[in-house]
Parts: sequence; C-alpha cells; structure tokens
Amino acid sequence: MSKEKGSLSIHSENIFPIIKKWLYSDHDIFIRELISNACDAITKVKRLSSLGEAHLGGKTDFQVKVILDTTARTLKFIDNGIGMTDEEVKKYINQIAFSGAEDFLKTYKDKGDIDQIIGHFGLGFYSAFMVADMVEIDTLSYRQGAQGVKWRCDGGTEFEMEEGSRTHRGTEITLHLGPDGETFLSEYTVRSTIEKYCSFMPYPIYFEVADKEPEKDKDGNIIITEPEALNDVLPLYLKQPSACTDEEYKEFYRKTFRDFQEPLFWIHLNMDYPFNLKGILYFPKLNTEFDTIEGRIKLYNSQVFIADNIKEVIPEFLLLLKGVIDCPDLPLNVSRSFLQNDGFTKKISDYITKKVADKLNGLFKSGREGFEKFWDDISPFIKYGSIKDDKFYEKIESILLYKTTDEQYVTIEEYLEKHTGKLEKQVYYVSDPVQQAQYVSLLKAHGVEAVILDHSIDSAFISHIEMKKNDIRFKRVDSDISELMKEQDQTDEETNKVEVENVTKVFKKALAKEDCKIQLESLKSEDVAGMIILSEDSRRMQEMMKRYNM
Ligand code: ADP
Ligand code: MG
Repeated sequence: MSKEKGSLSIHSENIFPIIKKWLYSDHDIFIRELISNACDAITKVKRLSSLGEAHLGGKTDFQVKVILDTTARTLKFIDNGIGMTDEEVKKYINQIAFSGAEDFLKTYKDKGDIDQIIGHFGLGFYSAFMVADMVEIDTLSYRQGAQGVKWRCDGGTEFEMEEGSRTHRGTEITLHLGPDGETFLSEYTVRSTIEKYCSFMPYPIYFEVADKEPEKDKDGNIIITEPEALNDVLPLYLKQPSACTDEEYKEFYRKTFRDFQEPLFWIHLNMDYPFNLKGILYFPKLNTEFDTIEGRIKLYNSQVFIADNIKEVIPEFLLLLKGVIDCPDLPLNVSRSFLQNDGFTKKISDYITKKVADKLNGLFKSGREGFEKFWDDISPFIKYGSIKDDKFYEKIESILLYKTTDEQYVTIEEYLEKHTGKLEKQVYYVSDPVQQAQYVSLLKAHGVEAVILDHSIDSAFISHIEMKKNDIRFKRVDSDISELMKEQDQTDEETNKVEVENVTKVFKKALAKEDCKIQLESLKSEDVAGMIILSEDSRRMQEMMKRYNM
C-alpha cells in the first residue's frame, strides 16, 4: 500500500465523552478553572474602571460565591466581574469549544500520559462538562445598557441562548451535576477542593450550601454566622520580606501546611528579574519519632494552585522542604513533559538551589552556634542535596558538619586538625552509637574521637565525600584500627611474638582456615579484651552484596 498522509476529521460530538473519560482522574480542576475565570473577570472590570472605561456605580465588593444545592443537584459560581454580552458569549464560549476541542485532539494523538492532558490543554470553561450534564451561564456585561444573556448547553454540539435575568453586572455559572459529579454534592469535597486550588486567589471566595438546615442554639434560635472567605487574598509570600515578621512566617506555615511544629527557619524568595518568582521555603523540624521527612512544595501560577512537588521546577532534594512557590511566568497548563525540556524551568530550579545554599552559608557565617543547633535536622537535606547536585555541593562543601562522639560539630578539616599526629586523612565514624559504644571508648582511650554517621543517607554520603575529596577515607570504628593501636604499643617484642604464635594456632584451628593473620595489640581499654575486625572495604563489599541480594 502506498504511503498516505492526511488529517483526522474531528466531530465535536465526540469531544465531550473523551474529555470526561481522560480527565476523570483529575476532574476536580473544574473548580479551579471556573473560579479563576471568575477572578479574571473581576480583574478585568477593575482594570477597566481604573482606566475610566467602566463605571461600577459603587459596586466594588468584588467577590466570588460558590453555592451548592444538594436538592437541586446544582453547583453555582457567581462573580461580580466584567460579565459578557451576547456577542462575547458567542465569541468566547461558543467558538472556543471548537478550537479548543480541535487542539485537544491534535495534541492528544501523540500524547500518552493522561496526567498531562489537563495541564496541557487548559480546557478552562469546558472542564465543567467533566461533572455536569448541563451547564448554564447567566451573565450581564458591565457595559451601560447591556442586555443580559442566558446560555445553556448539555455537552453536545447544540447550545441555546436567550435573554438573561441578571440585574447586576457579573456572571453566574450553574452546573447541573451528573453522575460523574456525584462527589461534588458533598459540602466537604467542594470546600476542600476550593481550599486546595484557590486558597491564595486574589478575591474573597465564599462558599455556602443553599439547602442546609440553619444551625440553631439551644433555644431554637437560628445562629447567624458571618460568612468567611475560604482564601487568603494577599498571601504572605507576596509581601516584601522586610515587611514580614517571624510570627507571620510561622502563622503562614501553620495555616498552609497544617503543621504545628515550628519550622526551623525559612527563605523568602522574591525575584523580579530575569523572571518573576515569589515564595517561601521552610525547613521543617524532623519528626524524630519516625525520622521521616515528607516535604511538600506547592507550585502556583499567579496565585492559582498548579500542583505539588513538580520535580522539573523544584530540585529533587528540596522536595524534603515545605513551601510555596509562585511563578507567574510559568505558562499555566503546561504539561509536565514540556516543563522537563524547558530551559526556563531549569533556570528557576537553579535559582532556588542557589538561594538555599546562600541562606545556609549565611546562617553558618552569622552564627555557627545557631547553625550547629539546626544541624541534626537539616543535615539529611544537605547531604541529599550534596549527592544529587554538584553545584549545590560546591556551594555548601565548606559548611558540612560532622557530629562527633563528644557532641561537637566539626568540619572535616577541623576533625583532621584535631587529630594531627594520630590520623592521616582518616575519619573514624560510628553507624550505630549504641552497638559500637565499646569501640568508641576504645578509640577515646587512644585519644581519638569518631563522628556519628547513622542516618540512612550516610553510607551514600560517605562514598560521595570520598569521591569528592579523594584523599580522605572514612573508617568505621570496628574496622581498620590496628594502625592506631600500633603506635601506642609498648609490649615487649619477645613475649608478643610467642603470644601471637599461640593465639594464631587457636584461631586457625577454630576457623579451619590457614591464611589468617593475627595481630596482637594492647588495647587501652578495660572493656575490650580482644576484637575480630573486618576491614572497611570488606565490610562495605558485604553490605553492598546484601543490599543487592547477591
Ligand atoms: P481562558 O480562561 O483560558 O481564556 P476559558 O475556557 O476558561 O479560557 O474561558 C473562555 C473565555 O470565556 C474567557 O477568556 C472569558 O472571556 C470568558 N469567560 C469565562 N468565564 C467568565 C466569567 N465568569 N466572566 C466573564 N467572562 C468569562
Ligand atoms: Mg479560564
């Protein structure tokens, strides 16, 4: 058969089932889309008013209202923004359906990852059809003498338009929830979805349930509660760092992450050039009980939540932190694979890494004592970052600390200096301070301290440092310590020789092994009579084999 080329023909009646099917996993984003359209509409009318092109007649209590009616099975989104004329409905609502749908299919045919679809296509208004059988728009433009318009569509290719009923500027969008929207009949689901996507949107968002029994006090009187906006219209990260207090940073942390442990410290990112980026990164306290670190970095685009923990923008090791990052320059709805290949996201990621390294250096320089206090909590991030990111490692190399068995925090250089004459480019460490306690006291008796490297990341970290500083070797306290003993050895040569021979005999027999080397050293310790040691290399080899099940 000869080669043929052509374009797929698209029938829009096929679009809605596809949208519904493929977007199902993320179908709560319709709330984000409709509320951000409402906020856009308010921003537009505000701008026109400030240009003197719109007269708002004092109606400037800008807000978005979401009303759930579980009996009527509707969810309404009401704003007092710019509104639309019938021309505008035809242009923005009716036409977009077609172009948006075409784009959707064109791009869809070579995209595999379903997750990416919504981000990529920004179905915006039409995402309402993921949950609704029928969508109505009732809108009145801000223009003087405008006529209200009502539009309705059941998700097919037909729509109806007629005169609207609104008397005030703005738009009311009603979703008649279908079977796929069943979950949004729950007050809790709607509320938490608004909180997830819209908590920093720029106009107050109110949520109410129309058919809810009013709360009554014990005398049967209805309790009237002042409605409260679900969002924070001016999140702290948008303010100038110099205008924020510690208490505000802590409060923002508590509210945003519902973490009632105080963060250790934070970094306020505030950049206008060459790209616009604002945010706050918090270093959380480690949960010592479980020793797990589960970070969370929320990414926003102009105060609209996009996603958590986007690896293309946030360097992986920083995903252990908690924070918010808002980057309006990031194209909303970009797919993740697009982010990956984009030089721009790499720049953002490098900028964030640099800021974190700068902050750590600043803390170290401004007060070593304070820095040491944080060390146990922050060292896993720093070690992980050192391994993962060379540039980061270079920046923080000189402030890497090691906690010694006498509770001091030292750099490698300080450690070596402390042991001049005893250790040559060697660092002794313990991986289990309890189990290896007798070796620690043995070394102590010989005037040597060990450093504690007992976190799960440490074995990788040790290899990393040995690779970076290739003349330094880490040795566990129960490995090659004979060198250390030898210097101290005062035993009489002759007795030693005889004893070695005797002991060797015993061991050869016991181990049934001819090639076994016995060394006799005097241990300056009452606790340790003798020890069988395994060289650092052999032990590491064994550990590796165990890890890979060899
Ligand atoms: P986008 O927001 O990316 O432009 P949408 O599909 O979300 O795409 O919306 C299409 C258009 O419909 C908007 O650009 C806007 O002109 C109009 N629109 C949608 N919702 C509203 C609203 N609540 N008030 C006024 N205009 C709206
Ligand atoms: Mg939109």
